[in-house]
Amino acid sequence: MENMVLKVLLIEDDLIDQMAFKRAIIKQKLPYQYLVAGSIKEASRILSDHVFDVVVSDFELGDGTLFDVLDIIIEKDVPIIVTTGTGDEEIAVRAIKGGADDYMIKDPERNYLNILATTIDKAIESKKSILERKQAEEALLRSEEKFRAITSSALDGIILVNSQGHIAFWNTAAEHIFGYSSQEVLGHGLLELLAPAGYYDEYQYELHILKTSEKLRLAGKPIEVTGLHKNGLEVPIELTISPFELEGEIFFSWIVRDITERKQTEQELNEAREAAEVANRAKGEFLANISHEIRTPMTGIISMTELLLDTGLNSQQLEFATTIFDAGQHLLKVINDILDYAKFESGVMIIENKNFELLPFINNLTRIISPEAAKKHLTFNTQLDPKIPSHLSCDPLRLRQILLNLLTNAIKFTDEGQVSLQVSMMGKNVSGSKIRFAVADTGKGISPDDQKKLFQPFVQVDASITRRHGGSGLGLAISKRLVEAMGGTIGLGSTTGRGSTFWLVLPFTPSSDELNEYSAENELDHIVNSKLKSYKIPPTYLKNPNQIITNTAHSILLVEDDQVAGMVAQFQLNKLGCSVDLVTNGSEAINAAAQNDYALIFMDCHMPGMDGFQATRAIREAELSRGQHVPITAITARALEGDKEMCLQAGMDDYISKPVELQKMKQVLDHWIL
Ligand code: ADP
Repeated sequence: MENMVLKVLLIEDDLIDQMAFKRAIIKQKLPYQYLVAGSIKEASRILSDHVFDVVVSDFELGDGTLFDVLDIIIEKDVPIIVTTGTGDEEIAVRAIKGGADDYMIKDPERNYLNILATTIDKAIESKKSILERKQAEEALLRSEEKFRAITSSALDGIILVNSQGHIAFWNTAAEHIFGYSSQEVLGHGLLELLAPAGYYDEYQYELHILKTSEKLRLAGKPIEVTGLHKNGLEVPIELTISPFELEGEIFFSWIVRDITERKQTEQELNEAREAAEVANRAKGEFLANISHEIRTPMTGIISMTELLLDTGLNSQQLEFATTIFDAGQHLLKVINDILDYAKFESGVMIIENKNFELLPFINNLTRIISPEAAKKHLTFNTQLDPKIPSHLSCDPLRLRQILLNLLTNAIKFTDEGQVSLQVSMMGKNVSGSKIRFAVADTGKGISPDDQKKLFQPFVQVDASITRRHGGSGLGLAISKRLVEAMGGTIGLGSTTGRGSTFWLVLPFTPSSDELNEYSAENELDHIVNSKLKSYKIPPTYLKNPNQIITNTAHSILLVEDDQVAGMVAQFQLNKLGCSVDLVTNGSEAINAAAQNDYALIFMDCHMPGMDGFQATRAIREAELSRGQHVPITAITARALEGDKEMCLQAGMDDYISKPVELQKMKQVLDHWIL
């Protein structure tokens, strides 16, 4: 209080006491500014106009008592010291009970004025601390009100648990989730109430860890657990437990969220996903089967026509048979496009990653494309960036399919000029390189409007041209999906009347020896990519039928249940100079293999009774004791990915898909027998 001027109001009607008060202030040099009210009325007026630090007041004045102004003073939070005559202590007690902060007894010698300053200081101090306490209490009350408002409006259950595991707080949402009112649970053990019997020990253990582990590994992390409702039913909940210290005691806040609906939605989603997966598997199976069903008769048509073409036909017969052959190849292309498209639609298209050598790959394309270009008097050239690594890895069969589609389109829609294939490097870094393949033509081009329609399934931009050229309108849509599945992009630039450039950019990882080797000369799924076959006059051997008969007197076992396919293959093998034993199921194949020494077995995979996979396993087992190994090549009409792996796993050595062409069969014989 030092150095501070205090504003004091003295309420006193005794003039001598007033004088004594003033004298004491002057004498003691007290730093007081004071006003004197000689009556209650005057006191009341002064109090309404001024602010004081302290009021010193006689109890009884001529026009009333201190009580008449006490309320005003108390309301202003001003400390009051009451002065009473000697012997009037009782009055002092009354005044204090009524709200006065201290009292002084006016002794006749007026010694009380000697302790005036100390009494005033004490009263002010005590008033200040009372006020501070009051403010603190009010603040606490307000924050408690806020806390209650927040917790009772929260959608999550909020539970406070003390270190003994007893519930200390329980909000409205917790009441809804568990069915207990706050009164029912406060002070009760949380686990005893809310942990379902089967989970009790687990909870106990987790809580123990929570309390003892230094890292509090559960703290603050939401976990999904099961709680128990008052009605005995289990409730799935998400629980977040956080420890905190309050007045030296450890508490845990449990934030509980009812996840019944979320769990139900999850379950429904799971069921829907499972159903979709089942449906997808069924679609995949259907695709495999339909592929088999379509390709088997196609084997008959294409292969028998191929054989027929080689039987010395007259020119008209040759023309008819060539037309059948071309139409068959064309139909097969359409079927393959639709199957590919369906594979993407049902999510069963698998993209492989294989090593391959770029130069033979491009040469192979050139060998196929050049004659087609020549037929239309177009020039075909390839430009290869020398910076491109010689070995790359991606899915070469699919890349070949895309490029063949673009190249055949380029030839199809170009009447004069040239078609070219450019392969260039787009940059190289540690993760690999990007390579750009561009197919450019000098054809009629595509208008900007038509360009927008491309790459969508079933779109052919020019109906009249399409009628002239045919096509399913799926080629570009499939190419786009394949490119994207390989992590690349595809696009085009075109000027009407001047030509088009279709390009694709693919990422290539550096080739690694562990990956399967792919050789363009030895690719297996020949048919899937043989779009060009539809424009081909049958192979060169027509001119010289004896040219390909190189394998003499090799004994081959042919296992094929389909009558037409069996006949075709038998003719082909005979033509290739082999003698053939034809059997129609797996168990006959095992017997035949046990009794004869075959140079090679062609094994159909899907046969009624014992299939080709089982038969191969049995033959391989029997061979163990004899120390032999006959090459077995699978012939299958299933065009789904994974078939090759199944064949190799069963112990087969090679795999070809139907329809099997003569050249292909020759390649297999050359590879395994010669
Ligand atoms: P299709 O199997 O019918 O050839 P595509 O998807 O491969 O189907 O091609 C769709 C259409 O895009 C074609 O019918 C043709 O109208 C147009 N088109 C594709 N390539 C070219 C090109 N190089 N020049 C002009 N038009 C083209």
